[in-house]
This record gives sequence, C-alpha cells and structure tokens, in this order.
Amino acid sequence: MGILQGKKGLILGVANERSIAWSIARLAHREGATLGFNFVGEALEKRVRPLAETLDADIVEPLDVTSDAQLDAFFSKVEKKWGGLDFLVHSIAFANKASLRGRFIETSRSDFHLALDVSCYSLVAVARRAVPLMKEGGSLLTLTYIGSIRAVPNYNVMGVAKAALESTVRYLASDLGTEGIRVNAVSAGPIKTLAASGISGFKELLTNYEKATALKRNVSLDDVGKSALYLVSDLSSGVTGEVHYVDAGFRISLGLIR
Ligand code: NAD
Repeated sequence: MGILQGKKGLILGVANERSIAWSIARLAHREGATLGFNFVGEALEKRVRPLAETLDADIVEPLDVTSDAQLDAFFSKVEKKWGGLDFLVHSIAFANKASLRGRFIETSRSDFHLALDVSCYSLVAVARRAVPLMKEGGSLLTLTYIGSIRAVPNYNVMGVAKAALESTVRYLASDLGTEGIRVNAVSAGPIKTLAASGISGFKELLTNYEKATALKRNVSLDDVGKSALYLVSDLSSGVTGEVHYVDAGFRISLGLIR
C-alpha cells in the first residue's frame, strides 16, 4: 500500500511535464493519492488537462492566485467534490522578466508587488481556503530557493519573495499547529523549468552549481519529488515550519568550484 493511499491532495503549479509540481504529482499518484490540479489560462489548460488525465485527476480547474474570485470558486469546487483535503502543494512563482536580470536596486514598485503577491501572498490565500477542508489535519508544502538567504545574481526580487515565503511558512506553521496542520518548504537546487528559463544566466548557474555541490551533480525532478512525498505524507508527522534543502549539498559546501 502506498504512503498516500486514501489521501486527497491539490497540486497547484503544473505548467508542463518539466514542472516540479508535475514530478510531485506523478510520485504522489504512484503512492495512492487522489489528485486535483489548477491551470492558468487556456494555453496552459491545453497542457495541464491531458497530463492530469493520465493520473486520473478528480479536479482540473482554473485558478489564477491573484484573483480572490477564482480562489473562492476553486476551493468551493474542491469542497463540493471531496468535502475534505489531506495535503496541498503550492508550486507557484512569478516575476516580470525585466526584474530577473541586472541590478536589484532597479526593481520597480509594481514588479516588487507582483512578485510578492504571486510568489508569497498566494500561499496565505490558498492556506486560508484549504484549512477548513483539512478537518483531520493535513500538510501544506511550498517550493523555495536559496536565493532567499544568499544574494544570487539576477534572482533579485524573487529572492526577496522567497525570504518572505519562508517566513510565511513559519507563521502559518505556528498558526495551524493546533489544528494538526503542518506547513513546510522544500528548497530545491536549480532545475531547468519554464519558470527558471525567465532568470537571466540560468544555464551558467546550472553549470557552476553542479561543480560546487557536495554530491557534484545537479538535483533532478525526482530528487525534489521524493522529498516532497515525505513532507506531504505521514512520514514527516513531527515536522513543521521547516525549510528542507534538496540541493545536493550546495548550502553546506563552501560554494567553491573544485
Ligand atoms: P514552472 O514554470 O513549471 O511552475 C511555475 C508555476 O507557477 C506554473 O505552473 C505557473 O502557471 C504558475 N503560476 C505563475 N503565476 C501564477 C498565477 N498568477 N496563478 C497561479 N499559478 C501561477 O516552474 P518550476 O520551476 O516548477 O516552479 C515551481 C516552484 O518551484 C516555484 O515556486 C519556483 O520558484 C520553485 N523553485 C524552482 C526552482 C528551479 O530551479 N526550477 C528551484 C527552487 C524553487
């Protein structure tokens, strides 16, 4: 029997088969979970719906996290369909391309607001609507990156958003502990995805990263997916408010290329 047998989970943030969210979904399905997905706009619906169908998804509905109306509609559909929820994966981030290159000091007010709204506030927004459905406790998981605690060239405003996101994880964990709901983040090493392709110099980052990690390799989608399984399942029942690094040991290395 799989570790997520009988569990219902929402996977927010699949754009295509290279998405971190998709890797988590595939593995969660293999472990017995029943899944629900969102998509943003018609173009992504065409990609997400067929993928979701391969995992016999129960729910595939529109959800742009900047819209309170769409958030309400999405979670009301989840309540009608499932009446409960065991876990939720938040694998969503966005910043304007112009703010992901050059000097951080040039970040405009509107680009700052947009990045923080989509990449951080959205976790609060989905948590508030998911929690009433987690009647028997649950697990919320988000995705972050080491640019939250180090100044990574070109990551800029997204680093600030990830710092706020990691703090949000701790505050939500503290709020929700009495309801048996755990909140954690996986801090993943760099992986070539749609979102990553918006970061200037990403290819170079991948090449250098590989040489600087303890394991002397980049992380795979599977590496991240497997750790996510631990955090959304009962295997991590005593873990909350954590940022768990899945980075091939980059954080603990000196970062020197050997
Ligand atoms: P991705 O492009 O596959 O996923 C990003 C998702 O965010 C997409 O599905 C997109 O539709 C969604 N999104 C953007 N704006 C949205 C909105 N307004 N409403 C709803 N959804 C919206 O890329 P990914 O790399 O799989 O990113 C997933 C998460 O992993 C992000 O939080 C990212 O910062 C984080 N992460 C990525 C890496 C990496 O190197 N790829 C490393 C560490 C952390």
